[in-house]
Amino acid sequence: MALAGCLLIPRGTEARMILIVVDGLDAREVLDDVTPTLARAWREARWCPNARSLAVMPTRTNSNHATLVTGVTPAAHGITGNAVWDFEMGRPRKLGTASDLLTETIFTLAHHAGRGLRTAVAVGKPKLGAMFSADGDRQLAPDDLWDGRAASDSSRDEITGYAYDGTTLAAARAFLEHDAPDFLFVNLSDVDRVSHGWGPRSSQAVETRRRTDAAVSAFVAWLTARSDWSSTTIVITADHGFDTMTNHAFRFDDVLADNHLTRLVTVGDGGMGHVYLRAPAGPVRDARALSAARRLALAQPAIAEALYRRPNRADGGTAHSLARAHPDWHLEHPRVGDLVLVAKPGYQIVDGSSEEAKLSGNHGGPDEFPSSCSAGRRPKHPEIVTASPRRTSDAPCRLAWVSPRHSGSTVAPSLRPIAVASCTGCVLRTSFPPQPPNPLRHRNVRHVHFTRLRQGSSRACHNSPTRQ
Ligand SMILES: [Zn+2]
Repeated sequence: MALAGCLLIPRGTEARMILIVVDGLDAREVLDDVTPTLARAWREARWCPNARSLAVMPTRTNSNHATLVTGVTPAAHGITGNAVWDFEMGRPRKLGTASDLLTETIFTLAHHAGRGLRTAVAVGKPKLGAMFSADGDRQLAPDDLWDGRAASDSSRDEITGYAYDGTTLAAARAFLEHDAPDFLFVNLSDVDRVSHGWGPRSSQAVETRRRTDAAVSAFVAWLTARSDWSSTTIVITADHGFDTMTNHAFRFDDVLADNHLTRLVTVGDGGMGHVYLRAPAGPVRDARALSAARRLALAQPAIAEALYRRPNRADGGTAHSLARAHPDWHLEHPRVGDLVLVAKPGYQIVDGSSEEAKLSGNHGGPDEFPSSCSAGRRPKHPEIVTASPRRTSDAPCRLAWVSPRHSGSTVAPSLRPIAVASCTGCVLRTSFPPQPPNPLRHRNVRHVHFTRLRQGSSRACHNSPTRQ
């Protein structure tokens, strides 16, 4: 399951693409009285009205932004959450730098297309600026990159360093006015930041959603007044929904220590937790240790599910594996814990390094799938598609960015090989067909092509799994 929800441009149409991510905007909170612009646009879209959007698991910012710019699931791009256990350093670390990404981004593809395509990024979160940066020759940055670090002190949040939405949209406007990008990626962080701090149902979060909707409305109004609006497409989406924390943060490491399972260690990631074998002791003993940890986890009031990344011969073989229980999560990657914990609603899983234990709102589990996805294109009024909860997965179409050269299933030789169990989207596979560069067409080209992907058509991707 990749992102799903909307698709915008018929194949062959030329357009500028603007992708706006309202970070943490739960589709259940897209309401007429709070977010009238998004709500109306969702309903009135000509293309995919009332479309649904699916986030990838875990429903974390980094994993979903990686999917948005690569078109593949975490099993392929390797951003399996916001954090991972670092075996070399012996501690958790953040996951999501440019060097962590294992597949090409749309920015890299645009460069390699050799057709003068310009890309730009304006993101409120500095960590996303780091994710979208260049990594030597293997990953290329957008032509223009702005993040919260460039904002003045009064234009960003003091604690997180995230730029306020109005500032980020001002940067986006500047790019459109002066740099003429063919593809512009925008991340608005206010809704996420306030929902973490105060809870997604708080009055502060409601007011923030109202203000962000107004800011997006003003941005769209400015855009529609421009002469190039007729060749512009807007997609507005979110990376995940939100849950209110109603219980104390859960530390599974305490349970492991009480039961002398100290060869295992947990990395908390909001609604998900990764349990790693940090000191392997042989297949039989490891299988038993993980089996014991799973039994303990399922006895905890905070835990809804506990699943193995690989089949466990000491506990039913494949019976309790991620692939068996949730084949659509596509989390079979070595960075994922040997045992994956899924928290119940109202709970979050933390570790010793976590800064999240005091958050009032968080996300990461399957209940935060709902995100919103909207699209607008040169209509008299914005044509927008947004998303609703995953449970109603009757999305009429899907959106995914996929490497045309690799059909979303393999990676460039310069990137490390990764295991890909299945392909999940092919929408953009014809976006940059190989052709020799033509400098004469440099500034006149607007070629971001999409092909429609109907549900079930993902088998059109020619998958060629490679080993880890
Ligand atoms: Zn997020």
